[in-house]
Amino acid sequence: MKESALGRCLSEGVDKLRRDDPLLFDLLESEHRRQTESLSLVASSGGTDASVLAVTGSSIVNVTAEGYPGRRYHAGCRHVDQVEELAIERAKQVFGARYVNVQPHCASFANHSVMQSLLRPGETILGMSLDQGGHLTHGAEVNLSGRLFKAHTYGVDDEGVIDYRQLGDLARAHRPRLIVCGTTSYTRLIDFDRIRAIADDVGAYVLADVTHIAGLVAAGLHPSPIDAAHFTTTCTFKQLYGPRGGLIMMGRDADVLSDDGVRTLAQRVQSAVFPLLQGSPEVHTIAAKARALGRLLDPAFRDLARRIRANADALARSLAGRGYEIVGGGTDNHIVLFRVPGGLTGATAERALELCDILVNKNKIPGDTRGATTTSGVRLGSNSVSLRGMGPAEMERCAELIDTVLTHVVLLPDGGLTLPDPVRERVTASVRELCRAFPLPYEAEPAASTETRAG
Ligand SMILES: *Cc1c(COP(=O)(O)O)cnc(C)c1O
Repeated sequence: MKESALGRCLSEGVDKLRRDDPLLFDLLESEHRRQTESLSLVASSGGTDASVLAVTGSSIVNVTAEGYPGRRYHAGCRHVDQVEELAIERAKQVFGARYVNVQPHCASFANHSVMQSLLRPGETILGMSLDQGGHLTHGAEVNLSGRLFKAHTYGVDDEGVIDYRQLGDLARAHRPRLIVCGTTSYTRLIDFDRIRAIADDVGAYVLADVTHIAGLVAAGLHPSPIDAAHFTTTCTFKQLYGPRGGLIMMGRDADVLSDDGVRTLAQRVQSAVFPLLQGSPEVHTIAAKARALGRLLDPAFRDLARRIRANADALARSLAGRGYEIVGGGTDNHIVLFRVPGGLTGATAERALELCDILVNKNKIPGDTRGATTTSGVRLGSNSVSLRGMGPAEMERCAELIDTVLTHVVLLPDGGLTLPDPVRERVTASVRELCRAFPLPYEAEPAASTETRAG
């Protein structure tokens, strides 16, 4: 390959960091190792490949590009315009969208942008309650969305399924301007059409925040909200395996005239992202979004998405087979939620597993009597292990390791906990072995190359 000026800059950058700032370099190196050596079953984790990382670290970051392609407030945007257009085109293709905004700095800003594009302070929104699996930005009291708008919330029924009847009743009672759906710990398919029908009935808009299931939607393994909802938002770093950032997408309602009678819904969103909420876009992140979206267009991504599903099913089955209560009895996506057994809480389970580098997170389950920092449940997700190339056989192994830890954890009188040394050593060794056999996509080349370059 011809020598690349960008490639030289990136590798010299790593060498220079190591030489000039060993303190920071060591921290980053340790973090890199931690990622490669731990088994992440955190449902919101994804993982980037080395090419996405390289894009994020490239010199395009230096361009200030306020505005949109072709209409910037600065000169020098010829390439970033093309990069942004490429990201938009790829997102349209991946999701079958008619309008895409790739500038939101994160999914939270994407949600705020949609709300700000349409609503005035004091108007009513209806979102899933934080407790039951909604997100902070769907109207939680501690979030701007709950502070600016009058937020009502719906939840799940005893089976852990969205209570569409309650949703409909609340919509008719409160006549919200916007209904928000999309969740953080929901294991069943979301019926976007049903939510849209409720919204149409009361004259509300629908925002589908598919952050958690965006990869499955892209692969056609979950119904798409693009045309069912007026607005679809997602982050790009969870199931899309891209950089930190957000997207706003619209389907058939993009060109519908908004209530000002002048601008379309898409135009309202466009001006809400900039200049209403954000300043200059993170052009390096937009470039990395383009790269991640390009990977989603590769047929190999469908295989990965199918593995995400198969692995989640296998995790649920293996845990159920060991006597664990799986919330909802199983899963339709990448998330498995289970009740922690006797004596333990979600928090103690999370801490015990982390002693062996198995990463999970505590999560409330339907009807939970414990608070959000304690919880009676643990949430698992199959995104990262699937990215490593693990399959159902390895999920069986993960379930066995989780069970071993949870059956041996010793709670100490001072509130701490520990594991018998042999258990801890055995499980940690198994985790290491699994991680070595199924490396993350950015450790495929052994780290030796940096050794030889740093002279
Ligand atoms: C993680 C998550 C977000 C937040 O994403 P950020 O990019 O960190 O703002 C928003 N909505 C849902 C449903 C999420 O799961």
